[in-house]
Amino acid sequence: MDAQAVLKQTFGYESFRPGQAEIITKVLNGENVLALMPTGGGKSLCYQIPAVMLPGITLVVSPLIALMKDQVDAANETGIPATFINSTLTFPEMNDRISAVQAGRIKLLYVAPERFESPAFMGMLGQLKISLIAVDEAHCISQWGHDFRPSYLRLADTLDQIAGHPNVIALTATATPKVADDIMDRLAIPRANEVKTGFARDNLAFQVVKDQAGDTFIVNYLRANPEQSGIVYCSTRKEVERVASMLAKKKIDCAIYHGGLGEDERRQNQEDFLFDRVFVMVATNAFGMGIDKSNVRFVIHDQVPGSLEAYYQEAGRAGRDGLPGDAILLYKAQDLNVQRFFIDQSEMADDLKNAEYQKLQEMNAYANTQDCLQQFIQAYFGETASACDRCSNCLDDREQQDVTVDAQMVLSCVMRMDQHFGKGMIAQVLTGAHNQRIATFHFDKLSTYNLMSNRTQKDVGHFIDYLTASGLLSPSAGQYPTLSVTADGAAVLKGEQTVMRKVTRKVASHAPVAKDEGLFATLRQLRRNLAEEENVPPF
Ligand code: ADP
Ligand code: MG
Ligand code: ZN
Repeated sequence: MDAQAVLKQTFGYESFRPGQAEIITKVLNGENVLALMPTGGGKSLCYQIPAVMLPGITLVVSPLIALMKDQVDAANETGIPATFINSTLTFPEMNDRISAVQAGRIKLLYVAPERFESPAFMGMLGQLKISLIAVDEAHCISQWGHDFRPSYLRLADTLDQIAGHPNVIALTATATPKVADDIMDRLAIPRANEVKTGFARDNLAFQVVKDQAGDTFIVNYLRANPEQSGIVYCSTRKEVERVASMLAKKKIDCAIYHGGLGEDERRQNQEDFLFDRVFVMVATNAFGMGIDKSNVRFVIHDQVPGSLEAYYQEAGRAGRDGLPGDAILLYKAQDLNVQRFFIDQSEMADDLKNAEYQKLQEMNAYANTQDCLQQFIQAYFGETASACDRCSNCLDDREQQDVTVDAQMVLSCVMRMDQHFGKGMIAQVLTGAHNQRIATFHFDKLSTYNLMSNRTQKDVGHFIDYLTASGLLSPSAGQYPTLSVTADGAAVLKGEQTVMRKVTRKVASHAPVAKDEGLFATLRQLRRNLAEEENVPPF
């Protein structure tokens, strides 16, 4: 029987999804493969079909013990003999399963990566015929991924101790080019065997909602979409509890899920949601990995997550059935502090912390870009794409305005401050704030002081985020990023490039500013100074 026939007979599907046939062919050829496919893209099939066709056992390494039972049940239902071995089993149960495996009655064996640290388990593996090792959620192997697990790293070291050197298929829905390289290095996957299908989720409408009362938005959204299944993600347990009681006051039912609940309660709540007994799940990111609920219609992030990888994976739980879904990020700049706190408190080495801070900046750029959101995400994953025509930026019909002069003020300020300061200080100087720190600065540094006195610090802060998201400013790595002007930013300063931005009338107060001759004189003088030092032609 060939793969196509197995697809039809065992799984009952007519045709392969993108990437599946290529991956399966390579696996059956005995090659190591990295499969990069979006959530819901059909990664499981890529090792389950070979499992049926190959003579020995396929070992599936999966990070979450809680999910193994579901995965095994699903495989058995399909007709593939499967089982799992993990720490939840009693000793007799474990022995039963091992006997079944040894007797050749099992095709798919699910294990957690920690298993490979057990000499007894490694000993048992030595007596089995293993045809294939499938490493699911393979991004967990990379320290540059957003969900690094040391046990995955140790797994990579033990793989070549397994008798017969079975080949490996690694699968993930979330890997930047750097993480993909890391996975391939660690699992000896040739670069040519990276099979990547488009990361785009054509049925999802990505939306960023800014500076609105988050609670009001959530309540209105849930009332407008009754009996629709969806998840509200929060960054902390406390926020989960707060949102849940806020919803209770509004008479909106929800289940909650976070690491602070007992195991029984978690399972109960999860099942209530999975079986549509309750429509809304309010949860931390402890909820959802590997959960295959196809009819999730929306994922709302009440707070900004730590990276675009995490965001895309969580948001991607909407619309797994291919029907339309909403992926909404409620953005408040101060929520970044929660993530900064997590990074700061973690016990990572400094270079890893810096990498995390950098990811957070990319996340912030996503929230502040006015480019297509889907396209922005794909670019992050190393993919070029056209605009989606569905996201909140593509549908934003406000008019673009020329904000080049405003941009020049900010960029000049950053230059004058020797590119040694962060967003907060730049906004304070430009808006003419009085504080002790500013009072200590040398006069030279303050030549842009008060230049944007007609705007609030917050507003200028948003504008700086926009310029950063547009690639005109570049934040340094670390907890307190300082801003520097990029090559594109320098082109704007030189007047070689204009900056456009969609602004609502209320906020768009730069027009009268542009007519302010006094201000222009200041700006011209400033640019003359800059020109002398940095070869910027004055305008
Ligand atoms: P993921 O890539 O997120 O691991 P899954 O392997 O869980 O995705 O597959 C998602 C859903 O798509 C499952 O319900 C699966 O049965 C279905 N599926 C996978 N491949 C195909 C196919 N070729 N045709 C139709 N449905 C498929
Ligand atoms: Mg999967
Ligand atoms: Zn778009």
